[in-house]
Amino acid sequence: MNQGVVFAIIYPAMPKGIVVHKYGGTSVGTPEKIKNVARRVQKVKALGYDVVVVVSAMGQTTDELIDLMHKITEDPHPREYDQLISTGEQVSAALLAMALMEIGMPSISLTGGQAGVVTEDIYKKARIKEIRLTRIKEELKEGKVVVVTGFQGIDSKGDIITIGRGGSDTSAVAIAAALKAEVCDIYTDVDGVYTADPRIEPSARKLKYISYEEMLELASLGAQVLHPRSVECASIYGITIHLRSSLNDNEGTYIKSAKEVDKLEKKEVVRGIALDENIAKVGILNVPDKPGTAAKLFGALAIEKINVDMIVQSIHSGGSQADMAFTVDRVDMKKAVAVTQKVANELKATGVISDPEVAKVSLVGIGMVTAAGTAAKMFEVLSKEGINIQMISTSEIKISCVVSRDQGRKAVSVLHKAFGLEK
Ligand code: ASP
Ligand code: MG
Repeated sequence: MNQGVVFAIIYPAMPKGIVVHKYGGTSVGTPEKIKNVARRVQKVKALGYDVVVVVSAMGQTTDELIDLMHKITEDPHPREYDQLISTGEQVSAALLAMALMEIGMPSISLTGGQAGVVTEDIYKKARIKEIRLTRIKEELKEGKVVVVTGFQGIDSKGDIITIGRGGSDTSAVAIAAALKAEVCDIYTDVDGVYTADPRIEPSARKLKYISYEEMLELASLGAQVLHPRSVECASIYGITIHLRSSLNDNEGTYIKSAKEVDKLEKKEVVRGIALDENIAKVGILNVPDKPGTAAKLFGALAIEKINVDMIVQSIHSGGSQADMAFTVDRVDMKKAVAVTQKVANELKATGVISDPEVAKVSLVGIGMVTAAGTAAKMFEVLSKEGINIQMISTSEIKISCVVSRDQGRKAVSVLHKAFGLEK
């Protein structure tokens, strides 16, 4: 295959300039894969582009560093945590620079700090404040491929700071924005965003385009293809994210503004279906229906840093009491039940219930803002299959239902068909 032609098609309107490509952990997981990335970069460079490559740590390196840390302490100082887990990206960046030099490509690896990535003074999950481009530009001018460590920057003291797990995507988009690139290619082990998880729904279709808003919803619903903040950053600076596979040259999914997607894609009300099987439901029965009850319960959960997602309150007919139910990550269920039990005692509630056997099915689509009846259709489809809806929540572009976990996959499948999302 003539690679030159393939890349020329992929960047039709772009004048030869700087491209920013990000490779995820699986794409740089072994020395062979790093060499593969080097060869891919070589092809892009041969077409006349200046290339900045942002890398994640190899494979599971970051998790392994955290395991190692837990052998020393359960409560690391956050500064040392950042010092430690930022090292994974330094390994992959240096190795990629070496692999490039091995095939005759001048190259240099830069840490976040060396590349001018400046963050807030907050450990573990800082935001990127600015990117001082002097060094990157100097190195590009000398004809080098610049390899930058994702996931890190430096604070006002010059200390290494990380920007939250999965943050390399955000590093790449921020660098693309600073360099005024139009597109940021994010190479990963999937070849794009699908209408549903293809492992659950074999007829799921790869989307050519999806809007920032829809992508953010899908990301927050558990589709872990992209760091949500990278999508936020792309939408602010008008960068197109091209999410694609590092194993071939196929086009993946372009993430763009809703306005652009609207012009390019046929208008479907529902664009994607997400399934979150890692939730649990907790409920509190017969609490006083008066101001302050919800504040007390959810305040107590917040203090314990338990993230609450859906909340439902039902009022008893004529009575002065109510039931409340909410969902949490399944790993937090035990803690949530303990906190809720304590509040229940104080409020003289009659009981606390919990159910780990639930799942959340969500429809996402920007067309829902204007199309009436999407929720009604969803409920109808589920009822025809005998799937009971335990909780419902909606936003402008999303409808979520909590169902029994053993019916979650079935729900995805029937909804996928009913909303015409198949290939
Ligand atoms: N290596 C970091 C992590 O595993 C950052 C990233 O991969 O995006 O969270
Ligand atoms: Mg990632």
